[in-house]
Amino acid sequence: MKYYIKIFGCQMNQSDAERIATYLEKYKIKSAASIDAADLVIFVTCGVRQSAEDRVYGQINNIKKKYPQKKVILTGCLAHRKDVQRRLKGKVNLFCEIKTFPQEIVSVIARSRATKQSRVRCTEYGIATLPSVARDDKSNYLNIIPKYTNPYTAYIPIMTGCDNFCAYCVVPYARGREYSRPTEDILMEVKVLVKRGYKEIILLGQNVNSYKNLTPSLSLTRRGSEGEVDFPKLLRIIEKIPGNFWLTFLTSHPKDMSDELIKTIAKSKKICEYISLPAQSGDDKILRKMNRHYTIEHYKNLIKKIRRSIPRPDLGKLTPAISTDIIVGFPGETKKQFENSAKLLKDIKFDMAYIAQYSPRPETAAWKLKDNISKKEKVLREKVLTEILSKTALANNKKYVGKIVEVLVDKEIAKAKPSPLLRLSLSKNKYLAHTRTQKKIIFHSSKKNLVGKCVKVKIIKAKAFGLEGEIL
Ligand code: SAH
Ligand code: SF4
Repeated sequence: MKYYIKIFGCQMNQSDAERIATYLEKYKIKSAASIDAADLVIFVTCGVRQSAEDRVYGQINNIKKKYPQKKVILTGCLAHRKDVQRRLKGKVNLFCEIKTFPQEIVSVIARSRATKQSRVRCTEYGIATLPSVARDDKSNYLNIIPKYTNPYTAYIPIMTGCDNFCAYCVVPYARGREYSRPTEDILMEVKVLVKRGYKEIILLGQNVNSYKNLTPSLSLTRRGSEGEVDFPKLLRIIEKIPGNFWLTFLTSHPKDMSDELIKTIAKSKKICEYISLPAQSGDDKILRKMNRHYTIEHYKNLIKKIRRSIPRPDLGKLTPAISTDIIVGFPGETKKQFENSAKLLKDIKFDMAYIAQYSPRPETAAWKLKDNISKKEKVLREKVLTEILSKTALANNKKYVGKIVEVLVDKEIAKAKPSPLLRLSLSKNKYLAHTRTQKKIIFHSSKKNLVGKCVKVKIIKAKAFGLEGEIL
């Protein structure tokens, strides 16, 4: 039996898929290079927008038409939805939420292998798990040691779920209440990865700022005295793990971004100068309707504090890159209110912004509001914001030109084309890398096998969404 995992949506889904892969492989189910070659296709779905949902329907329908015998499992953010289950009835063999994936998949595999075991715990199958598996069933799937897809950058979920109930968002329904992983599990995962030579650790959570481990182990309480581990403290503990690695995290909620967190980032040598701080709107009234619990004044003050305290040239650090998420066309968003979002983008001068057209989601509070901004107007608003972003991102990137920065090499792209600008010879290789500030960079080098290494590059050209450089 061979499996293929189709991932939609965010890094959290990518990380979940890595845990699913471990699980399947322990059952001697091997990975297939494509859907065509697989017997079992697992959809890790995203329900954040209708467009992501529609892609899932389209692909499952195509698979079932072409290969009716293939088994399909649907997990992720759409798995719990009754309407989705009705719509895909007969096409999906199992709908299961990610939290219960380990238990449920066991029964499917056991059934398909005609054994009598219908519910078996993962430990009985010798699945590699972290220490808390025995005492905490709720976090079962998070304790599975994942099959990391990348050998030098790893995603580590520190929490799952969300208690914020923003009016437009499905996450609290799809992933349930907020759950923070035990600190010792996170530490063990980081330590193992750093020992294996990982260069970049990305901590994941819907709202990492509200991480709270209320029952840390004795060893942690002794070391850290006050017991409870919140997010800044978690970062400080990870910082102390010996080794050279970059530490990044996603995503922070502006209402929970504390001064202590900003101070912790500023003092750290490992935490990267990249802050993802979704604003969602530039208008206070819309923010209230979205149930975001902050004002634009608060948001702007946070950015001021971050920019004032985080660049630490004395520590060889870069000016922080700030990225945001913005929704255009939220129900009732007037032209004036949209203009406030445009103003926010102009004022803050973001390095990156993920701009989304509002999409009504079942179960959410905003589902009941009239989706009264036309598609045409949403497209236009998105375009206006993208244009502002391109300008601010380019202006920020221009500040890199002439500087020497450390980059982590992601992949080797095909052989380089000759370019007078880069003074290339045909023998040079072209690499894609990224900076600590998550800026993509292309550079050329005659050196081979640079993927996964940190190298110093001189920036020679800036674009809105990327840099070009020369290796030193
Ligand atoms: N936890 C993060 C966001 C997680 S969802 C936060 O608090 O900001 C990822 C992004 O998808 C959101 O930031 C939002 O911009 C977008 N999004 C979520 N629901 C949406 C919807 N119904 N329509 C359009 N975009 C949406
Ligand atoms: Fe969704 Fe809001 Fe939670 Fe982010 S904080 S995941 S937008 S409910």
